[in-house]
Amino acid sequence: MKVIPIRPRGFCPGVVKAVKIVEDVLNNPAYPRPIQILGMIVHNRHVVDDFTSKGVITLEGAHESRHEMISKVVPGTVIITAHGISDLVYHMLKDLPVVIVDATCKDVSRTQKLVKEHLSKNHEIIYIGKRNHPETESVSELSSKVHVIETLDDFNESEFRDKQLFVTNQTTFSIRDIQTILSGIQKIYPNAIISDEICDSTRIRQEAILEANKDVDLCFIVGDPKSNNTQNLVKLSFEETNTLTYLIESEKDIKKEMLFGVKTVTVSSGASTPNSITKRVIDYLNSINIDE
Ligand code: SF4
Repeated sequence: MKVIPIRPRGFCPGVVKAVKIVEDVLNNPAYPRPIQILGMIVHNRHVVDDFTSKGVITLEGAHESRHEMISKVVPGTVIITAHGISDLVYHMLKDLPVVIVDATCKDVSRTQKLVKEHLSKNHEIIYIGKRNHPETESVSELSSKVHVIETLDDFNESEFRDKQLFVTNQTTFSIRDIQTILSGIQKIYPNAIISDEICDSTRIRQEAILEANKDVDLCFIVGDPKSNNTQNLVKLSFEETNTLTYLIESEKDIKKEMLFGVKTVTVSSGASTPNSITKRVIDYLNSINIDE
């Protein structure tokens, strides 16, 4: 069986920065304890568990918004995750006796800034993103003029007659899905101002999968099911390259029956997956003898 690691894969610059910020805070006694993170610092359980073992508290609960998490904050340090927060949540944090450390990715901040600029011009904002994702939450809370859609079917075209529209999106959206949605909106509203905000890291990881998955039998994407960019890599691989694709968290999720008849397998990973875990998957696949 031929194993093809896809490049680039793994940690993006935004994740590298966020992880380093947490490490720097941990190593600096000047930051008051406890160190709390408003949600998963990046959407990967291994990264979160590693920080938990070092005493960092990740404030999270199933489907909890940043607002709800704030009620659990105690005096100490609070780190904002790579996905960012809304101004509303930021002001709530400022009222608490905590030191705030911001690990928001610069690409997320840029999209927020663009939305604010267009809100100041009284434009209606169509934001294409996954509902209940913290990045979407950080933008949708800016104003009631921000309308979140996940697909073109969610777009209520009659709602925006005589309005100036600004259309943008979550940074980790699928490059293929975004083309469909943006061109669909532009057909209905040719004057809509459009800014595709998929970040470079997401784009080049997705393009690498489209390129690598030609004539392969199977693809593994290593990552956390909570990670939007990981989910989109799986979707893209499956739907756009017709390749049987599995999302796995580590080599422990690989079953030998997945590999029956497989001659070529590709491996990639989400932008929040540590390279050490993906390397273990690649090493395992290289070592396995499926005829055993
Ligand atoms: S995937 Fe893109 S937007 Fe998200 S943290 Fe990485 S660089 Fe930033």
